[in-house]
Amino acid sequence: MLRDFGENSEIDLAMNDAPRGAVSVELGRARIIVRGIVQGVGFRPFIYRLANDHELNGWVLNSTEGVVIEVEGSTKRIEEFIADITLSAPPLAVVEKVESSFLPPIGYRSFIIQPSQEQQDKFVLISPDICICPDCLRELFDPRDRRYRYPFINCTNCGPRFTIIKDIPYDRPKTTMAACQMCPSCEEEYYNPSDRRFHAQPNACPTCGPRVWLVNGRTAGDNSTKGEEAIIRARHLLNKGAIVAVKGLGGFHLVCDATDDASVARLRERKGRVNKPFAIMSLDCQAVEKYCHVSDAERQLLKSPQRPIVLLRCKSGSPISALVAPNNSCLGVMLPYTPLHYLLLESKGAETDTPALVMTSGNMSEEPIAVGNEEALERLGTLADAFLLHDRDIHVRCDDTVTRVFEGKEAIIRRSRGYAPFPVRLDFEMKQVLACGAQLKNTFCITKENYAFLSQHVGDMENLETLSSFESGIEHFRRLFRLSPDVIAYDLHPEYLATKYALELRHNGAEQLSGETPFVPVQHHHAHIASCLAENGVPETVIGVAFDGTGYGEDGQIWGGEFLICDFGDFERRAHLKYVVLPGGEAAIRKPYRMAISYLYHLPAALTSGLTLFERIDPVELEIVRRQIEKGINSSLTSSCGRLFDAVSSLLGICDVITYEGEAAIRLEMLADESFEDGYHWPLPKGKFPIVIDTEPIFGAIIHDLKAGVPIAIISAKFHNAVAEMISGVCCLIREQDGLSKVALSGGVFQNLYLLKRTLGHLRKRGFKPYIHHQVPCNDGGIALGQAVIANAKVASPNFRRGSVHVLSGAG
Ligand SMILES: [Zn+2]
Ligand SMILES: [Zn+2]
Repeated sequence: MLRDFGENSEIDLAMNDAPRGAVSVELGRARIIVRGIVQGVGFRPFIYRLANDHELNGWVLNSTEGVVIEVEGSTKRIEEFIADITLSAPPLAVVEKVESSFLPPIGYRSFIIQPSQEQQDKFVLISPDICICPDCLRELFDPRDRRYRYPFINCTNCGPRFTIIKDIPYDRPKTTMAACQMCPSCEEEYYNPSDRRFHAQPNACPTCGPRVWLVNGRTAGDNSTKGEEAIIRARHLLNKGAIVAVKGLGGFHLVCDATDDASVARLRERKGRVNKPFAIMSLDCQAVEKYCHVSDAERQLLKSPQRPIVLLRCKSGSPISALVAPNNSCLGVMLPYTPLHYLLLESKGAETDTPALVMTSGNMSEEPIAVGNEEALERLGTLADAFLLHDRDIHVRCDDTVTRVFEGKEAIIRRSRGYAPFPVRLDFEMKQVLACGAQLKNTFCITKENYAFLSQHVGDMENLETLSSFESGIEHFRRLFRLSPDVIAYDLHPEYLATKYALELRHNGAEQLSGETPFVPVQHHHAHIASCLAENGVPETVIGVAFDGTGYGEDGQIWGGEFLICDFGDFERRAHLKYVVLPGGEAAIRKPYRMAISYLYHLPAALTSGLTLFERIDPVELEIVRRQIEKGINSSLTSSCGRLFDAVSSLLGICDVITYEGEAAIRLEMLADESFEDGYHWPLPKGKFPIVIDTEPIFGAIIHDLKAGVPIAIISAKFHNAVAEMISGVCCLIREQDGLSKVALSGGVFQNLYLLKRTLGHLRKRGFKPYIHHQVPCNDGGIALGQAVIANAKVASPNFRRGSVHVLSGAG
């Protein structure tokens, strides 16, 4: 319990000494606890002003359970005060709960802000990083302001939060700003409750705050320029075609002129990134509209304080280099979110006026994004020509968020900066679960009460750097949210690093875990569907369509074209794509032509002869692949829908070898004729469940069209339409059997908007109620949420055996 908030406060803000509300009114005192995002968002000064407006005495403080307030005065005024807490909260605050209890008055004589209180077992929500606010932006470009062109300007309404916080409660000594001593002017603002920077923890100015400087990456020694000159020089280098590493909010970006083919090509070559799209940044929406279509909803998202990368459709005749997003009709675009970005993009000191800069993660291929100065100089030394550095440390690595608008609503693809660590709110109370996620695009999730704290994007768990980033991320979340997990959830795949991490925890008994902690393996596609159900608040049994690239099945094969009936507790497999051989395992994923050969293997030779596909493959490799298919050497079976798309993409000559995950399918989608509504007829078997959906008729029909010279755009459209129609057809068969009419769609395949739009159309027409993802990615970035809710339900079930672990080995 809170106690001892007597007279010994550090910050006495008494405005007058006379007791308020003294004239013959009913007096009372209330203790109020406000929960939500209420720290680091100007909440205490807001409460201070509100109390003064209502002529109430008492105090306010930050505690680990939220903002705690006591007010004393007229009971009527107290009630109005409580109502106003929610009604007029500051812009960045998220008020989740206001609890109040009335007590006898004790004669407070003023209203004061108390020092923060800590309690070990309580937690508060932590604000994500927020882009520079309009007030700070105005000051940034106001020559009369003392922070004119200062790249670290911020206030209680904006600036870094999550990425600089080391622990709670959120106070300057617990952030990476602890090293900076405020100057008298900053201190005055910091302690003045009527100032916008009152208790703005990262408050800083050119006199006392962090600094920026430029280092030439190619030469050692003292060749750095500082301050404004450094930014102008960086911009000058960018105009000359250089690649500059720029330290941002959650890590480094590699930056170059997005209109310059040569620069973009050089960046691709150095980064080892062949075709995967780069994100770009423009000064404002007006600049974006020069090269992309922007709807109202998209504009809102671009300008939101979270400042995500928004996927937008390109305009023709765009000045942006085609190398920024090869073979893609969309561009990932964001607006500036730090003052440094604004200074870099705004044209002062620039001889030419580029409408956009490439802003891609500062890393080599799939390693984690660099965050420290020394680390960047070392790891990005061969990638960047110069480094724009600063000395405000980044405590937590946080990549940019990627999102887009679908059917007028946000549908997130990568949930990270600006979003994490804001929780997904669930409709039910959870145990404290740590869910470790899967492998690609990984995130983890920890739950407490009715919150699911999904981590920022961690990345592909394929190297030790990412694993260590994952491990330290979990430790940080556990500390921040005061969590000691009573359940651990993980993917069934025995080779995933996240699974190994979970099993390691079990065997080496981390100190914080009790010996009784249950470890719950969760099937990948069940987790996908549960994630969709959790964010949509659907606790009942549904038909789940989980289409993705790879997920370990209960039979040890690679699943990915799955129709389940499931709820949080359990699932049954009702239908799936027919198994084909994944010739050479990982090699078949990198080389879609291997999948094409596998799908065509059992088709009549007369049908497949003369296909250009076979002319493009080295005869020796062709022979090896055929042998792998025949004998099952080094190959498992797969029902993956991702591989089906890959195979069709290769068969049509669109993409034989991928350079990033999903490339073949994305290029197939991009080519599909939007206006074409017809699809191939896909015969579905009736009868026994699970239904096995044969893919041979589809390949037969495609080859027929291919040989008849039907344009690729039409074939792609007919294929997409056939898949959409097949999904709703299979759902009808399941509905006949199980009587279910709610359908959840999940898995990375549904990032394909051509497919998603048409699938939803068919399902709605046939009277289904479909659910899709909005707040959480449909790809593996959303898996951890599903794992958490499943583990929570399984542990609560009477059939659950405590401490049981089973990891299936590959079945033959
Ligand atoms: Zn601000
Ligand atoms: Zn200062």
